[in-house]
Amino acid sequence: MAEKIILTGDRPTGKLHVGHYAGSLKRRVELQNSGEYDKIYIMIADAQALTDNADNPAKVRDNIMEVALDYLSVGIDPAKSNIFIQSYVTELTELTFYYQNLVTVSRLQRNPTVKAEIQMRNFEASIPVGFFNYPISQAADITAFRATTVPVGEDQMPMLEQTKEIVHKFNFVYGDTLVDPQILLPENKACLRLPGTDGKAKMSKSLGNCIYLSESEAEVKKKVMSMFTDPDHIRIEDPGKLEGNTVFTYLDAFCTDGHFAEYLPEYANLDELKAHYMRGGLGDVKVKKFLNHVMQEELAPIRARRAEYESRIDDVYEILREGTKKAQAAAAETLAEVKHAMKIDYFETPEFLAEQRAKYAK
Ligand code: ATP
Ligand code: MG
Repeated sequence: MAEKIILTGDRPTGKLHVGHYAGSLKRRVELQNSGEYDKIYIMIADAQALTDNADNPAKVRDNIMEVALDYLSVGIDPAKSNIFIQSYVTELTELTFYYQNLVTVSRLQRNPTVKAEIQMRNFEASIPVGFFNYPISQAADITAFRATTVPVGEDQMPMLEQTKEIVHKFNFVYGDTLVDPQILLPENKACLRLPGTDGKAKMSKSLGNCIYLSESEAEVKKKVMSMFTDPDHIRIEDPGKLEGNTVFTYLDAFCTDGHFAEYLPEYANLDELKAHYMRGGLGDVKVKKFLNHVMQEELAPIRARRAEYESRIDDVYEILREGTKKAQAAAAETLAEVKHAMKIDYFETPEFLAEQRAKYAK
């Protein structure tokens, strides 16, 4: 049977937050521990981060270790998953260069996620070419490792579509070479795109509306207690709305019936809590206090593991170095196959010379 391979990653533009956790990290750890995958590659996408942070290399450098620590603290196990740094796998840049020829400018312009990101960064008139191109470099990342499965949040859907198009085009033009990957979205709808604490559609480092995985208990509590809810729910007896109510979205994402039994036994489950809120008579503070318990329970073991790895920075550095070496070797194999398919393997096989000899023989 064909190998099952995972590729996924994050940009080192800040510490990782509970949006990453809900959308991708938690799933990665489950998949890792399922034992169903032959190889798992987890990429710290520093080269991609530089596409919109070219003038801030210190930020990218500073966050390499933060992201690595976040990975290890959520339970990514370096014995099972290969953590690596993108910029060191130079084969990815070379693949990107060739894939660029298979994509049109107008196709890139249609990418809805990139469109939204351009707007968010006020790039309209001055989009860096590298940033505009990053969906192509993501196709290189995914295909270099022959990934069959890409577990990510919903915002990555257009990137996967772009990758699949490149795979199909490449295989059509040059012969079957690249593996067609599948996106794996979170099963829980609330996790597809976790909103920010301010109620904005997406929790994102760039928007400053995050709860970070490494934050202290007190910081998390403060953020939960000041989270966006229903602005029309002023008095406790008022009926409340669930739609756009961030506190309830987080409960959808994180809470279980077990949490009710432990912290709020007057309700059997989230449906009962929601019904009371909509009826009126349930205050935001009570719901937020419950959410705080849920979040603290999820984050406490992550925090503890982080503290342990922070005291072993040399080991984490070695994990990154080893992982990067392995990733480089895997990507080099794919690049060799790609170049062979594209007929640019002049020095790798004797065929080129044989062809030339035949052509010029008198
Ligand atoms: P930046 O603002 O620098 O783009 P980001 O917060 O969007 O940072 P990324 O590194 O771009 O984070 O995203 C990494 C992964 O986390 C992707 O798989 C993405 O789908 C997922 N992800 C990021 N934010 C969320 C969110 N709010 N909800 C669900 N998944 C998310
Ligand atoms: Mg992003």
